[in-house]
Amino acid sequence: MAPLSPLAAPSSAGGCLAAADPAADAAPIPGITQPVPGPRFVDEYRVLVESGVLIDLAGRPLRWQSCPLCGTRVVPGTTCPLSLPCPQCGARAGRRRCLRPSGHEAAQLHTARVRAAERIDEARIAAGAVFFPAPWPRPVQGDLFDLLVPD
Ligand SMILES: [Zn+2]
Ligand SMILES: [Zn+2]
Repeated sequence: MAPLSPLAAPSSAGGCLAAADPAADAAPIPGITQPVPGPRFVDEYRVLVESGVLIDLAGRPLRWQSCPLCGTRVVPGTTCPLSLPCPQCGARAGRRRCLRPSGHEAAQLHTARVRAAERIDEARIAAGAVFFPAPWPRPVQGDLFDLLVPD
């Protein structure tokens, strides 16, 4: 199982990323988007994932696996928010959930924790990583990926 810690992940293109992925010399295609519109509903998204139509930034079919931390279907190598401590509630890295002020586990994750994971992946994309999902042709409207706790 590949480590999920961003510290253990390749910090730039080349190096261990190339060693781990024989197709890592693929180059990002400027302006590439998914071949289908962004789904409006979670069920539609699941169908797209399972049917294998979604592509990465180099136009290759995405491979998916269950995230060992949160159990959702993810592209291997993407940063799980649970692999980071939460800057808002102080939940430790690897905890399944964020914490309410009462100390009970929240049903969802704090915005700051999710954004922190997104920023790590955005930086890796900027550094040339191509195994991330290509963006949707148009921005998705609605709350499909809104796993966040209102602050
Ligand atoms: Zn996860
Ligand atoms: Zn939190």
